[in-house]
Amino acid sequence: MDPRDRNGSVLTVSNGRASRPRVGHHGLKLSDCEVFVDFDNTVTQFDVIDNILECFSINRDWRTFEDAWRTGRIGSKECLEGQLRSVRITREALVAYLSTVSVDPSFGPLVTLLKKHGIQPVIVSDGFSFIIQEILTHQHVGGLVVYANHLQVVGDRLLPAFPYANGCPRCAHCKKVHVLNSQLAGKKAIYIGDGLSDVCPAQHADLVFAKGNLLDACRDMGIPCVAFTDLADVYRDLKKGTRCVSG
Ligand SMILES: [Mg+2]
Repeated sequence: MDPRDRNGSVLTVSNGRASRPRVGHHGLKLSDCEVFVDFDNTVTQFDVIDNILECFSINRDWRTFEDAWRTGRIGSKECLEGQLRSVRITREALVAYLSTVSVDPSFGPLVTLLKKHGIQPVIVSDGFSFIIQEILTHQHVGGLVVYANHLQVVGDRLLPAFPYANGCPRCAHCKKVHVLNSQLAGKKAIYIGDGLSDVCPAQHADLVFAKGNLLDACRDMGIPCVAFTDLADVYRDLKKGTRCVSG
């Protein structure tokens, strides 16, 4: 459902069950912030990993892993390891495929806006850094910090590694750690995302832009957030200074 059809563009602050006190939205100064952006379905307009599985798997086993993950029987690390076992694609073919993946048209302008305020946006993804960097390079949005799982292409096999697992039973990449580290360094954290792996970091961020499953979770859990449909909404919001003052 379009979040703006259901509740307007702004989700109200509710019962405050978040784990730490928050700065009021209007108290944030943009230049004091670090901005974390999820990748699949936030920067891209579809889930790239799902599409790779759909296009390059030799069987349908990946759907069984997907169902197990969606119902919480396995975490995303076990899910991705299982799913990638069925994929057959060479590095050359993968790079060619990734060159066809576009990003939200407002992502480039958003990055430019943030850089004007001295902010280098950080991509945090439960996907793979190789895939993300390839897509961003093809879309001429290079040079961003990317925290994601690692991927090695050996022959026609994709071999994952999970340097940021942090012992979490749910996520292969514990995105929360980056938000907490940034706050420890004195920054306020703005978080933009759509998925289940974004729920945990959103609980700790100072300002959250949410859509999709993240928006539903924020509503269920009482995590204050701003609903968005695409990055044009986030761009307009930050440019206008509705919630963050410039400077
Ligand atoms: Mg996502």
